[in-house]
Amino acid sequence: MRIAKRLEAVPPYLFVEISRKIAQKKAQGEDVISFAIGDPDLPTPPHILDRLIKEVQDPANHRYPESSGLPKFRQAVARWYQKRFGVDLDPDKEVVSLIGSKEGIGHMALCLIDPGDIALIPDPAYPVYEAGTLFAGGESYPVPLLEENGYLPELEDIPARVLERAKVLWINYPNNPTGAVAEVEFYDKVVDFAKKHDLAVCSDAPYSEIAFDGYVPTSFLQAQGAKDVGIEFHSLSKTYNMTGWRVAMAVGNPDLIKALTVVKSNLDSGIPQAIQQMAIEALDGPQDCVDQNVAIYHKRRDRLVAGLAKLGLRVHPPKASFYLWARVPAGFTSAEYATKLLDEAAVVVTPGSAYGEQGEGYIRLSMSVPDDRIDEALVRIGSLSS
Ligand SMILES: *Cc1c(COP(=O)(O)O)cnc(C)c1O
Repeated sequence: MRIAKRLEAVPPYLFVEISRKIAQKKAQGEDVISFAIGDPDLPTPPHILDRLIKEVQDPANHRYPESSGLPKFRQAVARWYQKRFGVDLDPDKEVVSLIGSKEGIGHMALCLIDPGDIALIPDPAYPVYEAGTLFAGGESYPVPLLEENGYLPELEDIPARVLERAKVLWINYPNNPTGAVAEVEFYDKVVDFAKKHDLAVCSDAPYSEIAFDGYVPTSFLQAQGAKDVGIEFHSLSKTYNMTGWRVAMAVGNPDLIKALTVVKSNLDSGIPQAIQQMAIEALDGPQDCVDQNVAIYHKRRDRLVAGLAKLGLRVHPPKASFYLWARVPAGFTSAEYATKLLDEAAVVVTPGSAYGEQGEGYIRLSMSVPDDRIDEALVRIGSLSS
């Protein structure tokens, strides 16, 4: 048998490699502290779990769901977008459920990319934008996110020959991996640019509820005319510690939502209904669980930023997301420094270069590690020979 060529173009998924390394170290009896993976260590809030326990008893929830999502789920999403961002959505035409936004992001490429088409992808970025593009037979063009520009893309620098073949622009704020944020003025520019160059915009915003110091992140859909050109991917994963339940949504332009629903209805059968009910509970229910999470991340952020700065790693406290994006010490590449931390301190971080060429010189630390383990990691890093 022969595996399809399209798989050869795709590098092994970043975290699969990291998980393998961690497992190897643990098997050797080492006490590994991992800042590598963006997965909340905190549990799903009890009122959301209670709803699941209730809903699993109902035989109506034992059957095939629909890939577009329960009408009640879509209505809850529309209510949440209205309440949170002041954005109006038609739950029937402008909302679709996703089995985690990773699923929708991957499948979106099949809606937009024909062989030879280009996707404009931020560099550094979450790896799925590029993987989806490659699976669809397209090419990705990396748009640099530079520290001096606040990690916003310089859209005017994208060459005309690239724009002629480009079909989609991916954006992601609050940003993984840099922790950068974007304001509505930026999104207004994105809408103009997309209209001028006939691009679809895909905004990925799973960290909009994790923000610090009173900062309130925006949505791409708050820009004037955003719904004419784009959609936003959002997820319950990070907001409600629900990564394991796989429930998310895409919202916005009805033609793009329809295209994604066509792909999905041919490939999957949607989210188990009891889990959609959990999501309804999460979106409609009390939100103090979110504030409590954020308070925990806030403390961890300050602890890590202060500790890393003392050790000579330059890092700006992010306004949002749960990542720290730190400069590696002089004389190291990202990968060299990440390897040193793993080998000599059993501390796992992701090398910035794994997110794209522009990530070279940085490492990413996820704040999904409790305070005592943060302290332990800082002690270990502090005792490294340089
Ligand atoms: C975590 C993450 C997602 C995916 O979340 P799901 O659990 O699949 O909903 C999407 N985009 C970015 C940038 C992420 O960090």
